[in-house]
Amino acid sequence: MTTTTDTTPRGWLGCLACYNDGRLRGTWLNLDELAEPAEHRPKYFQKMTSPSGYEFTACTVCHGDELALLDTENLPRTVGESWGDALAYAEALDSLDLDEHREAFAAYLDNHYTADFVGVLDHFHDSFVASFDYMTECEDFIEDTAYDLLDLDGLSHSVRDLLDRDKLRDPSRLDMTTTNYDGRVYLWRDC
Ligand SMILES: [Zn+2]
Repeated sequence: MTTTTDTTPRGWLGCLACYNDGRLRGTWLNLDELAEPAEHRPKYFQKMTSPSGYEFTACTVCHGDELALLDTENLPRTVGESWGDALAYAEALDSLDLDEHREAFAAYLDNHYTADFVGVLDHFHDSFVASFDYMTECEDFIEDTAYDLLDLDGLSHSVRDLLDRDKLRDPSRLDMTTTNYDGRVYLWRDC
């Protein structure tokens, strides 16, 4: 049986002034809509301009501009209620071209407690090696890498049999670690 899990990142953006007044005023927005709530949900949010010319997004009822994420799905836990942090996360995801990298970035954040999503991108790229469906696939990859690094390909099978395969399949021997996230195995370079 296949179960499809909805992994779309989204947040329930609401007006804090209305909320503190006992009125729940806001709506769910997908991560890509959160940058422009007034454009996507004009019923709840509108663009306003301050006397000094500063443009901001406000609640259509009370014109309050303090907006917060009062609920989230599939967003890093460090986003919390911060609309700004969710936008920074969206910006970081946008810079990742491959689906594999976007999934791996979520796995990375599960293991690194930070809200500096753009600032950690370099470290993410340096440390991410690959992701796998199963641990055995990951260990096969590590074993192949170890053979390459140690230049053992030319060894006869009788000599290979003498090698300690458990050690050759141990990521820590290559200064790597594995984590599990969302049903996949991720391999990271220690750096
Ligand atoms: Zn309001």
